[in-house]
Amino acid sequence: MHVTEEKLSGWGNIPGTPGKVVYPNMIQEIQETLSFDKAIPRGLGRSYADQATNNECGVINMQKLNRFIAFDDVNGILTCEAGVSLADIIQVFTPRGWFPMITPGTKFITIGGAIANNVHGKSHHADGSFINCVHNFTILLSDGRVVTANREENSDLFHANFGGLGLLGIILTATIQLRKIETTYFVQKAKAAKNLDEMLASIDESEAEYTSSVAWIDSMASGKNLGRGVLTMGNHATLAELPDKLKSNPLKLEKKLKLNVPFYLPSFTLNTLTVKLLNTLLYFMQKNGAGIAHYDKFFYPLDMINNWNRGYGKRGFIQYQFVLPDEKGKENIRTILTEITKSDCIPFLNVLKRFGNEQAGLLSFPFKGYTFAIDFPIKPKLKSFTKKLDNMVLDMGGRIYLGKDAYLDEATFKAMYPQYKEWLAIKEKYDPLNKFSSDLSRRIGLC
Ligand SMILES: Cc1cc2nc3c(=O)[nH]c(=O)nc-3n(C[C@H](O)[C@H](O)[C@H](O)COP(=O)(O)OP(=O)(O)OC[C@H]3O[C@@H](n4cnc5c(N)ncnc54)[C@H](O)[C@@H]3O)c2cc1C
Repeated sequence: MHVTEEKLSGWGNIPGTPGKVVYPNMIQEIQETLSFDKAIPRGLGRSYADQATNNECGVINMQKLNRFIAFDDVNGILTCEAGVSLADIIQVFTPRGWFPMITPGTKFITIGGAIANNVHGKSHHADGSFINCVHNFTILLSDGRVVTANREENSDLFHANFGGLGLLGIILTATIQLRKIETTYFVQKAKAAKNLDEMLASIDESEAEYTSSVAWIDSMASGKNLGRGVLTMGNHATLAELPDKLKSNPLKLEKKLKLNVPFYLPSFTLNTLTVKLLNTLLYFMQKNGAGIAHYDKFFYPLDMINNWNRGYGKRGFIQYQFVLPDEKGKENIRTILTEITKSDCIPFLNVLKRFGNEQAGLLSFPFKGYTFAIDFPIKPKLKSFTKKLDNMVLDMGGRIYLGKDAYLDEATFKAMYPQYKEWLAIKEKYDPLNKFSSDLSRRIGLC
C-alpha cells in the first residue's frame, strides 16, 4: 500500500491538516487500508471543511474506484463503484437519455460522498434527498467484512449511512436509480422579488408548478430591500418543448471547462464594495431570465469556472447552511438575514430554498422547512459570529448542514441532532473500535 503525506482541506480551502493518503485502485486493495488505526474515506473533496480530512491519520481517496459495473437500460438502474462522480454518469448515460435523479449544485461529487452527506438539490421539494435514488450499496466494515445494505437487509446500516459522514465504513459500490429524460434542457423561469415577503410568496407559489427551484438573495440588500433577489424555477424540457434549432441534438452534453482561477486571489478583492457591485450585477443579469436553459447552466453554474474557490483567497471561506422549520420560518429567516446584514462579516452568495417532506437517516440534514446557504470569506470575527448564528438557529428549532459546517461545537451539534445517540449505537454495532473517524467527527464528538 503506497501512502503519501498530504495536507488536505475541504472545498472552502480553510488551511487543513496533514493526512496519510492512499489511492486504492481496486476494491481488493481497500482491505489493506484497514491497517490504519484511524481512517476516513474521501471522494472529490467537495465538502467544505474537515469532513474528509484526518489529522495524522489515514485518508482513503476513492477517486480511482470509478468503474461502472452494470446498467439496466430499460429501467435506468446503474451499479457502479463509489468513486464514480455525477459528472462521469452524465458523460456516459445522458446521451442515452438518463440523468442523475437527485443532484446538488455541483456534478463533481462521488456517489460515496453523495450518500455520506445525503445530498439534496434544487428539486428537494419534489424528489427529496439522495437516499431516494439509492437501491442498495456494499460497504467494507472495520472488521474486514463486506456487506450489502438496503431497506430490508442491514437496514439500520443503510439508513445511518445517509448523513453518516463516512464514519460507518467504506462504501464500495452502489446501485442507484437514474431519471429518464427526453432532453438535457430545462424550461426555466426567473422571477425577481423586491424584498423577502415577495420572495417567500414566490417560493411558495412555485412549488406546485416546478420540480426545481432556488432563490438567490442579494446579500448586501437591507432595510426595505432585505431579501431582494431572483427565484429561478424549472422543469426538465420535453422534446416537444425545445425550439427547432435544439431539436437535432436534444441530449447535448456540456462543453469542456474553459475558465479557470489559476491561483488564489488576494483577500482584499472581496470587500463590501466589490460584493455590493457583484450582487447588484447578478440581480440585473438574472431577473428576466426565461426560456430554455441547458442543464449545465441550470444545475451547475459554478462548475463552469474551475477552482472558483480560489477566488476567496488563501484564507478560504465557509459555507454556512441551516434549515428552519416551517412554523415561524418566514419570520425567523428575516431575523437571521437582518443579523447577517448588520454584521461586519461580508456574506458573498446567499441561496434560499424550501425543503419538502423528508424521512432520511439519523444525521441527515434536510427536514421540511426553509434552508439558507451563505458563503462567508474567512476573517478573524467569523467564528464568533457563526457561533451567535448557531445559537439562533438552535433556538428556532433548526440545524446546520454537517456536510458544509466548519465550526460547530460538540454541545451545539448534539442539541441540534438529538438522534445522534441512536446513530452512535449503530456505529458501536458496526465499528466498535472506532476505526472510522475524521477531523469533523472528533470536533463534534461523534467518536
Ligand atoms: C459548488 C458546490 C455546490 C454544492 N451544492 C450542494 C447542494 O446543492 N446540496 C448538497 O447537499 N450539497 C452540496 N454541496 C456539497 C457536496 O455535494 C457534498 O459535500 C458531497 O458530499 C461532496 O462529495 P465528495 O465526493 O466530494 O465527498 P468528500 O467531500 O470528499 O467527502 C464527503 C463525505 O463523504 C464521505 N465519503 C466519501 N466517499 C465515501 C465512501 N466511498 N464511503 C463512505 N463515505 C464516503 C467522506 O468521508 C466525507 O464524510 C456542494 C458543494 C460544492 C462545492
